[in-house]
Amino acid sequence: MSIVNRSMSTIHVSLSESCALLCFTGFMANISSPNSLQLTRGASGAGEVLQLFLDGTAHSRTDLAALTGMARSTLQERLDVLTQLGLLGTVQEGASTGGRPAQRIALLPEARLVLAIDLGASHLRVALANLASTPLLRAQSPIVLTDGPQAILQTALDLAEGLLQELGRSREDIIAVGMGVPGPVNFDTGRPANPPIMPGWDDFDIPSWFHRHLDALVVVDNDVNLMAIGEKNQLGEGNDDFLFVKLATGIGSGIISGGLLQRGAQGTAGDIGHVRIRRGDGIFCHCGNEGCLEAVASGPKIAQTLREQGVEAQSNNDVVDLVSAGNIQAIHAVRQAGRDLGEVLAAAVSLLNPSQIVIGGRISAAGEHLLAGIREVVYQRGAPLSTQHLQIRTSRSWEDGALRGASTIAIHQALSPQAIEARALELFASN
Ligand SMILES: [Zn+2]
Repeated sequence: MSIVNRSMSTIHVSLSESCALLCFTGFMANISSPNSLQLTRGASGAGEVLQLFLDGTAHSRTDLAALTGMARSTLQERLDVLTQLGLLGTVQEGASTGGRPAQRIALLPEARLVLAIDLGASHLRVALANLASTPLLRAQSPIVLTDGPQAILQTALDLAEGLLQELGRSREDIIAVGMGVPGPVNFDTGRPANPPIMPGWDDFDIPSWFHRHLDALVVVDNDVNLMAIGEKNQLGEGNDDFLFVKLATGIGSGIISGGLLQRGAQGTAGDIGHVRIRRGDGIFCHCGNEGCLEAVASGPKIAQTLREQGVEAQSNNDVVDLVSAGNIQAIHAVRQAGRDLGEVLAAAVSLLNPSQIVIGGRISAAGEHLLAGIREVVYQRGAPLSTQHLQIRTSRSWEDGALRGASTIAIHQALSPQAIEARALELFASN
């Protein structure tokens, strides 16, 4: 089932794909062989047929004819296109009643690769995944965000190149890139929008940078949205209403409602870090406002609180390590951050009525001490009906969440009917 909002139907088609569409009229005039004509006819609608395979189901031709209501010849034209694109192949499944193995058609998950990138405040992780969104290989590198987009994207590409070599694959195998960044993103253009902790990245055209190096569709989103999608992948069917909260250097959330990621009108839905909380009076935030949740309860703020009490803590990891070691001040500080977060989440529960609140990000490793603070406030303030079955727990995806979300969203768009049609036309135009 689709987990992405309709507003995501806008796709970043690569330059050559755009050209394939724009040049289509001219291409039609040059068709010489009946085979090309057949394949071109099949391109229209091939993407729709492909959707039947994306959940991993293998189908017989008879099943497909019944499912689609298409004439066998039309169906075959579309299957031919998808086979030529290398996306579908035949698989043998069990023995039919006649004793011969039944031949079915299925998506070939290893046919193409997806490059997933998770950019954090101080880390860069990349993974190559197959078309089933299963990560095949991962790599990571520490980075300094202020080095700017050119240097960091080049590092991501270099890491990807290393993984491709390890897999014995090439850049041409990459069909899509999904990237998460730690800040707001204009989803339609793939450009960060005034990201507070990413100087030099504002309005940088990330998709165009990748298009200079890869013939791939590029999708860029806020990392918390991708973590929410990654978590949904892990949870599986029936988890259609939950809130994913990242508590790390910053604080943000991704909203899954009715099974769909909600971005809102401008893509900033879920930006809970800058909601004012009671304990924030007199505390100024880097966004320019006073009393923001992020200015009071983020990882760096917890570390600062500990230093003021004479406990040495610099990083998010230090905070988590201190809690794990049973340091009382650290446990108190994390529990208080949980209460602060709970104040905002109680309001979110009233607005959205989620069945779960899932806490991720580095500080979530503080576990039960953090959750206790959140639960204390949310269960106390929430209406009985909205909190009766509400679960508040830590993420199951851990560090992989954003990468999984990035590959899922990139595959969703790269294998969408429109993108497949554009790819098919491009392929036949080049033949
Ligand atoms: Zn703020």
